[in-house]
This record gives sequence, C-alpha cells and structure tokens, in this order.
Amino acid sequence: MRVYNFSAGPSTLPLNVLEKAREEFLDFAGTGMSVTEISHRDKAFEGVVKEAEALTRELLGVPDDYAVIFVQGGASTQFAAVPLNLMHGGKADYIVTGNFAKKAWQEGQIYGEANKIGDSSDKTYTYIPDVDKLQYTEGADYVHITSNNTIFGTRYIKFPECPAPLVADMSSEIFSREVDVSKFGVIYAGAQKNLAPAGVTIVIAKRELIQTPLKICPTMLKWKVQDENGSLYNTPPAFAIYMAGLVLKDLKARGGVKAVNEINEYKAGLLYDFIDNSALYKNNVERKYRSIMNVPFVTGDAELDAKFIAEAKKSGLVSLKGHRLVGGMRASIYNAMPVEGVKSLIEFMKKFEKENA
Ligand SMILES: *Cc1c(COP(=O)(O)O)cnc(C)c1O
Repeated sequence: MRVYNFSAGPSTLPLNVLEKAREEFLDFAGTGMSVTEISHRDKAFEGVVKEAEALTRELLGVPDDYAVIFVQGGASTQFAAVPLNLMHGGKADYIVTGNFAKKAWQEGQIYGEANKIGDSSDKTYTYIPDVDKLQYTEGADYVHITSNNTIFGTRYIKFPECPAPLVADMSSEIFSREVDVSKFGVIYAGAQKNLAPAGVTIVIAKRELIQTPLKICPTMLKWKVQDENGSLYNTPPAFAIYMAGLVLKDLKARGGVKAVNEINEYKAGLLYDFIDNSALYKNNVERKYRSIMNVPFVTGDAELDAKFIAEAKKSGLVSLKGHRLVGGMRASIYNAMPVEGVKSLIEFMKKFEKENA
C-alpha cells in the first residue's frame, strides 16, 4: 500500500509518474530496451535530455542566454563548482541561513576569501537576515544564498539585489514557486527533493559568467564543458534525467509552476494554520520566512515527539522525524504531496493531540 511520505529527500514522486516509468520500464520508446540499458549516445536517449532541458526552460522561463545542464555529484558538489567556475577575483559573499548554506560557505573557503555577510545562527536559523541591510564585499565575484532551508523550514521572500551575480541553491524548492531567472547568475538544485530520484543535479547558469572557469577546475565541474556537450560530456545519470523529464511533463500538465505554487501555498497554509491554532504543536520559524516546502514542528516534549512519529507511521504517514539538528517533526510537502496527504496529516495531528492532552 502507498503511504503519504513526508521525507525531506529523497522524497515522494507523483504516482502517475511512477506508474508511467513502470509501464515503459522494459521497453523504452519502442527500443526493446529499458531506459536504464540504452546508450546515452542513442538518439532515443538524446531526446530524453533535450526534452528535460526544454521543459525546464519553458516551466521556469529560463532566458536563452542561460545554460541548463544536468550533472552528477549532488548539490554538495556544486558547493565546490560554484567557486571553481566563478571565483576569478578570489572572493565571494555568502549568506548563512542553515546547515547547507554553511557547508557551501565552508567549501567556498577552500578556494578563496568566502565572506559571511549574513548569518541567522543566533536564533537557530529560524529567520532570513534582512536582505536590504546586507553589506556586500567590494569586488566580490558572486553572492551565494540558499533560497529554501530544508532543515530549518525557512525561505527567502525577497532575494538580495546585489552588484555581483546572485547564486542560489534551490535544491528543496525548485519548480515550487515562480522565480525571475534573469535576476540570478546561477541556480542549482539537487533533484531528489522536488524533481526526480537522487543522482542528478540541475544547474542553470548565465552563459557569459561561465566562460572562464578557474585553471584548477576539474573538467567535469566546468559548467561550460557540460553546456557545450548538452549534458553528455560523459555518461550522465540517465535514469534520473528520464524521471525528471516525466515529472516536468506532469508539472506542465498540472498547469505549470504558477498553478502548482497556488496548491503549495494552500497546503502549507492548512498545516501552519492548524499548528498555530493548536495547543500542542509549535513551529518556531518567524512567520514571514516560513517555508512552504518544509514544515518543522515540535510538541516541546521529546518523548511525545517520538510517540507521534511512531503512531503516525502506523497510520500511513511516514518519514516525519525532524532533522537531528532541530529534533521534533518535519513534514516535507513538496509538489508531489497531494492536498489529501496534508489533510490526512492534520487529521492525525488532531487525533493525537486529543489523545495526549
Ligand atoms: C539536500 C540539500 C543539499 C544537499 O544535496 P545533495 O544532493 O545530497 O548533495 C544541499 N542544499 C539543500 C538546500 C538541500 O536541501
């Protein structure tokens, strides 16, 4: 039986996408082979990459002078790829709003002067620093942000307007809300949160910024090389790209990013409203910065939290355990989480509250 899976990543995928993949798993596009078996140089596969790229461009409104590439190594490898492709002057600014933001900043320090110009660790990352009050470093090569903080459940509601190119890790929210791509130098995202199974990372980069990677940049991390080769410089994560294509087709059929964002806002609104009106549950994030993808909450009693997680699982609501840095619970309600899943969670929370009052 399928359960409602609230995992932060890898995470739930649309059921119809999984069914479609199953249906054509043994014979992809009349080739008599599985998509996991065919050469990445096969015409049929080339179409898979091209389609995933075209759908990304269409659904996010990516301008023509931006590269859209599919690479390996997860978002964490991009923490290194960012400085290796962009840090020509040897310095960059980072806004540290959570664990992944901190990791990106630390990786940046390997390659040059990575300045932390914003930090919300003083309140355990429960807010986003005011972007209008940031002091940018003169001559910085880029400004790095994490647009949605998966572990702490915050998101930017306004993006920095900085002199240097803005680089955003959008791993846990890409395709969940509309963004003006032209305001960013680079956007990257590990796919296993809101797009596909693990194994592929999407990078969207303004081409004029990526023409001269640092001398020490490994060939595989050169966005320019990946772009010139249509993401086929070497063997790509073929199955994950294929799945991303199916998810994007499904997203388009659902009305695109704007339509899905409305549903996402609705789902998150239901859950936050319930939490705010309950006596038992609490979300500690400053309201205006609340993520609509990742919703952490606690009861204030670690034992009760553990009981909640165990009983929820028995009711078919799984992977609700919060990250070890936050504790409590976390409901990740990505694009693929149906409204009914959130409603079921709320029903369970009500029942649990009554029984444990
Ligand atoms: C999950 C996550 C990462 C790490 O992704 P990997 O693909 O495991 O390297 C980085 N940034 C954010 C915002 C994430 O949610």
